[in-house]
Amino acid sequence: EKGKPLMLNPRTNKGMAFTLQERQILGIQGLLPPKIETQDIQAMRFQKNLKKMTDPLEKYIYLMGIQERNERLFYRVLMEDIEALMPIVYTPTVGLACTQYGHIFRRPKGLFISIMDRGHVRSILDNWPETNVAAVVVTDGERILGLGDLGVYGMGIPVGKLCLYTACGGIRPEKCLPVCIDVGTDNESLLKDPLYMGLYQKRDRSQLYDDLIDEFMEAIVDKYGQGTLIQFEDFGNHNAFRFLKKYREKYCTFNDDIQGTASVALAGLLAAQRAIGKPITEHRVLFLGAGEAALGIANLITMAMTESGMSQTEARKRIWMYDKHGLLVQDRAQGTDSNQEAFVHPSPGEVSSFLDAVNVIKPTAIIGVAGAGRLFTHDVIKAMGALNDRPIIFALSNPTTKAECSAEDAYMLTEGRCLFASGSPFDPVTLPNGRVLTPGQGNNAYIFPGVALAVILSGVRHISDTVFLEAAKTLAEQLTEEEMNQGRLYPPLSNIREVSVRMAIKVVEYVYAKGMAFRYPEPLDKEKFVRSTMWHTNYDCFLPDTYDWPGVSYMPL
Ligand code: NAP
Ligand code: MN
Repeated sequence: EKGKPLMLNPRTNKGMAFTLQERQILGIQGLLPPKIETQDIQAMRFQKNLKKMTDPLEKYIYLMGIQERNERLFYRVLMEDIEALMPIVYTPTVGLACTQYGHIFRRPKGLFISIMDRGHVRSILDNWPETNVAAVVVTDGERILGLGDLGVYGMGIPVGKLCLYTACGGIRPEKCLPVCIDVGTDNESLLKDPLYMGLYQKRDRSQLYDDLIDEFMEAIVDKYGQGTLIQFEDFGNHNAFRFLKKYREKYCTFNDDIQGTASVALAGLLAAQRAIGKPITEHRVLFLGAGEAALGIANLITMAMTESGMSQTEARKRIWMYDKHGLLVQDRAQGTDSNQEAFVHPSPGEVSSFLDAVNVIKPTAIIGVAGAGRLFTHDVIKAMGALNDRPIIFALSNPTTKAECSAEDAYMLTEGRCLFASGSPFDPVTLPNGRVLTPGQGNNAYIFPGVALAVILSGVRHISDTVFLEAAKTLAEQLTEEEMNQGRLYPPLSNIREVSVRMAIKVVEYVYAKGMAFRYPEPLDKEKFVRSTMWHTNYDCFLPDTYDWPGVSYMPL
């Protein structure tokens, strides 16, 4: 590419950072202001403008605009202030952006595949301009964060997740493919919205839907290879479990809401265990919610407990769940589903509210993953404080409005004794005695970039749950004593790239040691190997490689 098209392509555009020679050779001299700018100055311009904006959605639109014009600059800006900007490109603002998607739309990002395209998915993939995709994040928009069915408006989620693949995992952006599958939506207000961008039809829940997903999976590996990583994101509960079961031994795939969330929550518990000095096997965990996130976390906690020598039966007995219909107990009128079976126990007595459940079960930890808002009431938090010296309270539902309680409530109502984490960020809280506590962000963003990097680099064929167990351990180990004293359960977000890389190194070591890696030859120095692949935001030079042949005579001797 030369001339104007080079500047219009965000992957090649450098804006005013094109050098004088580049401008002349590439045929763009005169198309830019005369000044030659460094990326530092370019980044400063955007950071300054972002600081001036107060509305998070305005910031989102502005940032996405940079991504549409100059990709390296976008990642430079994002990475140098990840703590402030992750809540914009990711939860909570991305949730708001999804609800407004059809209204704030500028340019399409990602690949849209609708149920009308059945039989043609492979040819649609051929329209995607990149030939070397290594990772796909796919949603069907049915359960976007805790916001419910947003249909194709859900595309913001795979786009945001893959931004973190690159910003945190150093995975090249051209290797990442966001996909939204449109099978309709059951969201009545979207079906009435003239600006909606998907099919105006109810969700297809017939065999055709399954056929479409099958076709999609086959088309991806046909085009990009069997090793292509496919991350399922924000599918509805029933489909999430079904597809994970169906595809996990057949493709290189995982479900982030089930497995990624499990890993980050377990890491939080392991960190809490370091703070409290109580082994994981002594905890009793009560979940609010009994869906993808709850069951994923519960199963991984069970694995961690059995690894510490407890039997599976004993481990499961320590884990309880409470959903819309109350406690999951045997023979309850509303029934339970087969995924929940392991955590359905005999009734412990009369329980008619979550507060009752806390008082009867006496958990050491409560984990909120119901996506239904502030259900950890003051009474619930106080009860946890009365039952435990150091209660563990995780309010993991996203976005912020769906969190089960705020950081402030959790800390204030337990006199600062609780160990708190939330899925979306909360500001630090100052206690009456002046002590400042910094809540952890228990978000799978600490897991999927590192795991994805490791999986891609080592050629893992199927991702076993033990990989997520390993990732959880390496995340918990990275928390320093000092960070723990600030009340943190996760390393600061500002450090998330280094945290992800270290996790990737550990996971690469693990999968080679366990014979799960299929990239040969095995790299001897895993750290050097992982670090050498990391994508960075420095601009490429477009000048041809010109040089002299020193001392060569062009005359006959
Ligand atoms: P899901 O599979 O739909 O599960 C939701 C569960 O919550 C179901 O068991 C549901 O019960 C229950 N529930 C709903 N309303 C309730 C209420 N009022 N009281 C008690 N239980 C209620 O969804 P999911 O994938 O687990 O996600 C749930 C939440 O977790 C979402 O807000 C999501 O954003 C969040 N999440 C966070 C992370 C993270 O990294 N922090 C990762 C993934 C998900 P019924 O089945 O009876 O309706
Ligand atoms: Mn999700």
